This record gives sequence, structure tokens and C-alpha cells, in this order.
Amino acid sequence: EIQWQILDQSRPDAEAALRRVHDDAHIQRVKEIRLGREKLGPDTYVIPSSFGALLEAQSLWLDAVDEVLERGRYNTSWALSRPPGHHASRGSADGFCIFNFCAAAAAYAIQVKGLERIAILDFDGHHGNGIAAYADEESRVTYASVHQAPLWPGTGDDANDRGPLSNRLSAPVSRGAQGKEYLKRWAECISFTQSKNPQLVIVSAGFDALSADPLVQCQLKPIDFMYITLQLRTAFPHTPIVLGLEGGYSNDAGLAFAQSLRPFLDSTIQHNSTSFKKNTNSINKDVVLTTTLQDKSLIRLGKLCLCLDATGNIHAVCGRLPPLGLPTAAFGVFDPQVRSITECGTGTRFYVETGELRGAWCSKRPFLSILFRPRRMAVAQVSVVENTVTIAHKDFQRLNAEFDRLSLKKSWKPYKKFLLTGVASRYRTDILAASAPVTITTSAREGIVKTTAIAGNLQVGYYLVRTPRRGDPPTIATDFIIADLLHNGNFEQIDKSHSDKCARVAVGVAVFVEPAARKRKLGLILFKQAMLACRRLGFKYMLFVERDTGSGRLVKWYENMGFSKIPPDALPGLDRAMIGQLPDPDLEPDFYDVPLPDDHDISITPYTPPSTFIWSFTSLIGNFFDFLGLWDDTASS
Ligand SMILES: [Zn+2]
Repeated sequence: EIQWQILDQSRPDAEAALRRVHDDAHIQRVKEIRLGREKLGPDTYVIPSSFGALLEAQSLWLDAVDEVLERGRYNTSWALSRPPGHHASRGSADGFCIFNFCAAAAAYAIQVKGLERIAILDFDGHHGNGIAAYADEESRVTYASVHQAPLWPGTGDDANDRGPLSNRLSAPVSRGAQGKEYLKRWAECISFTQSKNPQLVIVSAGFDALSADPLVQCQLKPIDFMYITLQLRTAFPHTPIVLGLEGGYSNDAGLAFAQSLRPFLDSTIQHNSTSFKKNTNSINKDVVLTTTLQDKSLIRLGKLCLCLDATGNIHAVCGRLPPLGLPTAAFGVFDPQVRSITECGTGTRFYVETGELRGAWCSKRPFLSILFRPRRMAVAQVSVVENTVTIAHKDFQRLNAEFDRLSLKKSWKPYKKFLLTGVASRYRTDILAASAPVTITTSAREGIVKTTAIAGNLQVGYYLVRTPRRGDPPTIATDFIIADLLHNGNFEQIDKSHSDKCARVAVGVAVFVEPAARKRKLGLILFKQAMLACRRLGFKYMLFVERDTGSGRLVKWYENMGFSKIPPDALPGLDRAMIGQLPDPDLEPDFYDVPLPDDHDISITPYTPPSTFIWSFTSLIGNFFDFLGLWDDTASS
């Protein structure tokens, strides 16, 4: 039996429910928008009517809790609400999420209904970092999530991390995971929460792990969601269950939702393992090319993206290309100099060799495709299932057309070759990044400091800093900000080595570490070595934009190194910047050291300016011209 209930107005206690899990400032910010729209995160906006809609969404979750706890007519209830909420944390919105409805529903059950043990299960394809943050402050909650990693928001990739209260579990699956793997990890989530004997189960139900979904690279079919809720119903036959919508961005989401209802409506549905077998006919239907890898050590499961650049070279970039079907393929421009694709409309860049994405990737905008014709870039997606590599017909045609356009004579044979090369190179990258000896060096050329990590002649990480010359325009960080944040308001203490008699600030502009290399502390080493080089080049301040995922952990990490957050209103357009002083390596040599285990194989060559004499000599000239007030004229002549 199924009963639908449509909410015609929000509940009077909806706002109070939100205040249990969000700061007043965050709620006020959304509530007080009067005109236009306000950006709360890179991809999250609100308009004046948002607050009312959000209260209604929260009301659905609260009603769902009341339905199973109080009214008792049903053991299961669904809140079909929009937008999603599991990425929103106490003080911030992110990833299309403004308020965390799931956390607020749990807080309501605890504080109003007096429950002591709540299980939150999350099968959205992304990790619910907002719920995880809530679980870190509420011991009566147990949180377990199955999701893809690596994937935005970058949290939840450590299956051993139970959080400070030992009450949460991350069960990550790899890119390209099929239903079977997803269900296996989901079962772990269920048994983790089951062991706590919950009085209420709340489920963050996202449908973006579907293979049709553009934002997640998992391969679930709608039927897999029936097995997900079947496991849930079987594990908690008598516990009240509330499910609420999170993500899901494909047309299959509705089908998957319908499948997920079945176990609750039909008690005869039972787990049937044979239906997990792959339907090989449907997989091969659209395949034009299949090749078998000789090297069994390359057996992997996943998807690979191939890019063809203007010179006819193929780059294999694993799953790190922005989702296919989005504008890259249609109107991205390839820049052979820095080997990146730039999306014409937004200016967002994707670096072909490193997989780094800078800027936000926008969704389809048909009107722009009229303005921008396809140029210089073709992208194809290739599946690697066990040791068979396949490429879909439409992707093959796209590559073929690009070859034709470039008048490159390519036959079948090179295709097979590049498929194998692509798989092998990706595999090699992972192995080297995870285990090969690493050398870290720093180079400085005019205006740029770059610290690079090389493993077996492959670049596995870098940190790039812009180091403006003395005559370049001063950075956006004014002396007011520097005095205020770093010198207790004392302007006299500022190091004013810029020719305009103000501070000279190095600006961290890009950082990348191969995912497989991240456990080796390469990010920290690269960061510290880049800072050391800047200090030795005479910079006493450094600024960068932090990419914290909402947990605040990364910001804390920087703060422990002496960096301070610049208030968002101080630097318009740069609302997540941090600034700090670079200590003198002669006085504080320990600052630049990174403790490593005894058996590490990372060799670091710290940067030394080419000639100390010439450096101090040019500084002297600079000071001399400063003194005469002539520096600018000299620099421009
Ligand atoms: Zn999601």
C-alpha cells in the first residue's frame, strides 16, 4: 500500500529544525536575499524565493519522521524534496546543497522526539561531507556512506577513518564500479549501522551512481536500486525508516526511484544473485572495437578518456576528464602550449596531462553551442572491463571525424595501439606515483616558482607560485589586510619591498598531486619547498585560495602553519583566500621540514638562488633606484 501526501505549506517548526544544525549567520544569509541571486558556493546559488522552498523541503523530512515515529501507520516514509542537502555543513552551502535536511531530521528525532540512536545511511554517489561533519559532533548518530572515490567533494576516501567519535564509516567504490561492487560496500554500511541497534534509520537517497548520470562515473542500472533498498528492508525489518532525496542528474533517476520502492511494496521480492550477472548482449551492442590486453597485470575495471589533440596525439586521461556530453567535446579549445582544454564560455581549464580542472565546469548551454563550433579537440570514452578494452560506436565516429578533419591518415591498427598505450600509461602512472622513488626540485624563472615531484621520470605533483617582480603591479592583498591579519594592525612591521612602497606577496596559483601519491605527504613537501624558494627569493608573504571541502580540516591545516583566512568582503571575488608570513629559514629551519618515515625514498633538493652575490647586488640596485625614486622608469625602459 502506498499513500501520497502533498505538502501545501511549510511547517512552523521547520526553521527551528534548521537552526539545530546550522549557524544563524548561514540561515540569515539565505533568508535575507531580497533581489537577484546570491552565490553561496562555486555551483550553489539562492534567489529570494529559495528560503521558502527550503523550509518546505525540510518540512517533508520532518513529516516523514513524524509519520514513522508517531502516527505509526507506516514503517517507511519518503521525502521527495529538492534540492539535495548532504553537502551542506553548519556554516556553508556547497555542491547544490544549501541546508542539510537529513542532519536536521536526525537532530529533530534526537532533540524533539527524544531518540538516542539514529542511523544515517547514504547511497548517493558522492560522500555526504555535511552529514559526516554533523556526525563528528553528535555521538547519538551513526553515519555510513557508499560513494565513489576519488570524486568531489574529495572526502570519504579513507575506508579506515571512523571519525573522532568512531561513529562513521566510508565505503568508497572505484570509478566505473558496477552494481555488484556498490551493493557489496552498501552491505558493509548497513552492518556497521545495524550493530548500533538504531531506533530510527534515515537514508540519504541519491540516484547519481546510475551509469547514465553525468556527474558520477559509476555504472549502476535502475534495477540495482531495488537491491539497495531490499538490503535495507531485510536488515531493518521492524525499525522505522525515513528516506529522502539527495542527488540524481539523469533521466534514469525516476526509474531507479521506482525500483527502490518495490521492496517496500512487495514482500515477496527476495535477493536473487543470478540477476547480478552481466547481460553481455547489451554491453556489446554499441561496440565497434574490442581488443584484449596481453599483459594480465593491467587488468582493471573502469573507464578511460582519450583526447586527440590538434597534432594528432592521443592522451589517455583516465576518468578525470569532465563528464562526456558536457561542453568539452563540443566547444573546448585545445592549447598545445600548456596542453589544456579551455571551455569557451566560462574560461574553465582542464589540463590534459595532469587531469587538473581549474574553474567550474558548467552544464549544457545550447545557446552557446551555436556561437562556438567544435575546435581542435575530440574526446572518446573507452571501457576497460577485465582485460577487454572497448570503445563505443559514437565515440569512435567522433574520433574518426576529427582525424579526417585534421587530414591524418589513421587506420585500425594505431587505434588498437593507442588503446593499449592509454591503459598501460595510466596503470604505470598509478604504480609510479604510489611507490617509485621521488625527487623533488624547485625551479624559478621570471615571475614563476615551480616545485615538481618526479617519480621514474614522470611528474606526479607540482606546486606553482606566481612571484611578481618588484615593479609589477602589487597583488590584491593590500597592506591593510597584511597589517591587520599578520602584524596586529601595525603598518610599520610590514616588509615593504615592492617598488610602490608596499608589501610584495607571492601567490600560490596551482597545486596538483597524483591521487595515488597523496599518502606520501607529497602535497605538504611541495607546498613547503615552494614556500622556502619564495622566501629565498625575498618574498615574506604568500597568498593562495584554499580548497577546503567544507569540513574545515584543510583550513585548520593551513592555520597551523601560520596562515590566516582573509575575510571574504576584504577581497571581492576571492572569498576563500588565505595569507601568511614565510619564516626566515636561517632562524626557523624546522618550519620547512616535513617529518617522514625512516624508510622513505623521497629526495628533496631545496631551492637556492643561482648566485647570492648577484641577487644581493640587484637588490642593492633596486634599493638605490627606490631611493632616487627612479625604479619605475628604469624598469620600463
Ligand atoms: Zn551526489
